[in-house]
Formats: sequence, structure tokens, C-alpha cells
Amino acid sequence: MPGTADVAVIGDGAIGASIAYHLAAAGAKVALLARSGGFRSSATRRSAGQVRMHHSDPHDARLAALGLETFEHWAEIIGGDCGFRRAGFAFLVDEDHAGVLARTVAELKGLGVETTVLTPDELADEQPALDLDGVAAVAYEPRSGYADPVRTAMALTEQARARGAEVLTGPGGVRLHRTGDRFAGAVLNGDLVSAEHIVVAAGVGSAALCAAAGVGLGTADGTGAPRALVHSKQVGWAVANTSTIPCAASLCMVIDDIAGTYFRPDGSGQVLFRVPLDGSQAPGDDTRIPRRSAEVAAARALAAPRLRGLTAAEVTTAARAAEAYTSDGRALIGPLAPHPGLYLATGFNGGGFKAAPAVGRAVAAELLSGVVRPELDPYRPDRFAAGEPVPIIQRYRNM
Ligand SMILES: Cc1cc2nc3c(=O)[nH]c(=O)nc-3n(C[C@H](O)[C@H](O)[C@H](O)COP(=O)(O)OP(=O)(O)OC[C@H]3O[C@@H](n4cnc5c(N)ncnc54)[C@H](O)[C@@H]3O)c2cc1C
Repeated sequence: MPGTADVAVIGDGAIGASIAYHLAAAGAKVALLARSGGFRSSATRRSAGQVRMHHSDPHDARLAALGLETFEHWAEIIGGDCGFRRAGFAFLVDEDHAGVLARTVAELKGLGVETTVLTPDELADEQPALDLDGVAAVAYEPRSGYADPVRTAMALTEQARARGAEVLTGPGGVRLHRTGDRFAGAVLNGDLVSAEHIVVAAGVGSAALCAAAGVGLGTADGTGAPRALVHSKQVGWAVANTSTIPCAASLCMVIDDIAGTYFRPDGSGQVLFRVPLDGSQAPGDDTRIPRRSAEVAAARALAAPRLRGLTAAEVTTAARAAEAYTSDGRALIGPLAPHPGLYLATGFNGGGFKAAPAVGRAVAAELLSGVVRPELDPYRPDRFAAGEPVPIIQRYRNM
């Protein structure tokens, strides 16, 4: 157990592991602290692993774009294997959103993203499994794909360890240690790790972790005003065999903004599709969803009009996890102003996996150099400090 570190990172999901890796790679003394067995129910473990650039929020697109090359060349850049597979990605919209899609594609091109607007007929020629009825325009990204989230987080943790990071777990998880307003360490298994910076990357656990140290990340302010910083939402998917789906081997990833669903290939002979959840699912460690449940049936009915053969496909598994959401749909990344030493990296709103390489790199650089990184500016927690509602950026019907 190290008594001191330059930085203590709390949370072993994709975000915490990436921050720890980038700090260790830059030569910092790092302690990565996590709850034993906690990764089993983490958002990272159950992530769909999609890496795509098209977003309503241009800042999220930028973080994703900054990380794409890392996923593509993982072995050379990080080491190990993240299981990235380039599949191509199509974003489908109706007539009402064709204009905003064209503007977003132009904006993404300005960021250097390879993307183009296709007509539904052009996409249908390449993707016979898709029924594009009602689709007016398509944004297509040839380099997008998906990675294996468990292998990604494991690779980051292992590579952090190989560069000197201490990776420590304990059954009760971590407690924050403060002296007055200053945060100066974290306690695991009763032992204090003193550190100059404490990074809270504990996903949905972040609010409870901070609350136990007297810092509210808030779920309500007593007046009903939308000041909540971090709250928990259940997110899920199901996987089906593709034997009934035509030309499934060449299927790309799809977000159908009209129906509010997504699906993507899932390796040999399987397709993964979104399962919307209403939050009534009990939180806890069991992250399976019964494959014959009403939720899975409704999810299949949502995606089936777009994906030929899905109605007859056998669902083999379904799963969910709690993810940390914020009231304006943007993550919280940065120092928490009244508390020197405390730095948040949480609240990724269902999209943090693809951002993990860029977030890890930028947070590590910022903590070690003291120079702020502009790509993190839109994510600062102090945007809520005035207590005013912060607007949500939503350009599309469903995202
Ligand atoms: C079903 C689903 C599908 C998704 N699909 C995508 C996708 O396709 N693309 C995409 O980009 N994103 C996707 N996401 C979102 C993405 O997975 C998350 O944003 C990302 O994994 C969050 O990582 P994290 O490290 O912040 O949190 P987590 O992965 O939840 O990790 C937090 C860790 O902190 C630990 N922890 C909590 N409290 C404590 C404590 N007190 N002490 C010590 N440790 C603690 C937990 O045990 C956990 O292991 C999806 C999420 C889900 C659930």
C-alpha cells in the first residue's frame, strides 16, 4: 500500500483506468483505487463499446474524434488489445432533421472527421439488411466501429501497472479524506493514500463518494430546479443471432434517430441492439435482463422495422448497467472549485466509452502541467455554480 502518490484515481472503469494510464505513462506516481468486484456492475463492463463521432454536442464529437486513432492503433499507442473493429457507422434521420444533419457533418469535417452525407438509396446499395423507409438523410462514417469494453479497461489498467501505477482494491471501496476544504487523500481498507490530486472517476458511485465527504453533487435542491449534477440511469442492450438477417456479415453500426434505437454487429454471427429501460429495474450487481422480458420484446419491436430478419432472430443474452447522467447531458471534468485537491471525471451520459482515451490524455496533462486543456473547458463542474439551469444541447429527435 503506497502511503503517498502524486494522484489518487478512484474508479477502475474506462475513464479512471485511462486517466491512471496516461498519468503513469507521463511518469507520475499514481494509485488507482477501486472497490473489489465493483467492475462487474460498472457501466464500462456493460458498454456497447461504440466509437462514433456524430453527436448533437460538438464538444462530445471532438472528444470522440481525438480518441479514434488510439482505438485504431491500440497496440502501438497503449499496448495490449482493445478489440476494436472498424464497422462503419450510419446515422439515420427524417426530413425534419436532414438540414441539421448536413450542418453537423460539415462541422465534423472541420474537426478532421471522415464523414459524408448519403442518400438512403446509396446506403441501401451497401447495406441490404437495412429497411430505410422514412429515412431522409444519412450521415456515414467509414472509420467508426466498436471495441470490447472489458478488454479496453483491462488493457489500460495493465499498462498503467506496467508503468508503475499501484492498482489497489478493497471490499468497502474508497473514502475521501479531507482537511477542511482541502482534499488530500483517499482511504482504502482503512489505510490512507495521501495525494496532491484526488480524481473521482467512480461513475454512478461518484455522488455517494462525494456526499460521504460532505460534498453534494446533488440530485435535488429542494425547489425542483434542475441543479442535479450526477444521477443514475439504467441503460441496456440485447444480443441476437444473425442467421435470419440478410448479409449480416457486412452490417454497419446504425443509430436510427427516427425510432430511437441503435444496433451494431457483435462479432461472429451476432447483432447487438438497444434496450430502452424505464428506471424501474432494481439497482445492484445483477446486470442481466431476462431475454424473454417485456423490455427486450419492446426493444426488438423498435429495431425490427429497420433491420430485416430481426423479428425472427433468437435473442441470446441481454444486459444493463447504471450509468451516471448529468442534468445538461455533458460530463463533469475538472476541479471542484471550493475544494482544492478534488477533481471530477464523471457523468458521461451514456457516451463515455469512446471519450476515454481523449479524456485520460487531457486530464493527465492538465493535472501534471497545471495548464488547462481547451477540449475539457465545456465540461467544467463550475458551470452549475450559479445555481441556474444549464441548457441541454439536443439537435435531433432522440439525441
Ligand atoms: C448498456 C450501456 C451501453 C453503453 N454504450 C456505449 C457506447 O456504445 N459507446 C460509448 O461511448 N459509451 C457507451 N456507454 C457509456 C459508457 O460505457 C460509460 O460512459 C463509461 O463506461 C463510464 O465509465 P466510468 O469509468 O466513468 O464509469 P464506470 O465504468 O461505471 O466505472 C466506475 C467504477 O468506479 C467504481 N467505484 C464506484 N464507487 C466507488 C468507490 N466508492 N470506491 C472505489 N471504487 C468505486 C465502480 O465499482 C466502477 O468499477 C454505455 C453504457 C451502458 C451502461
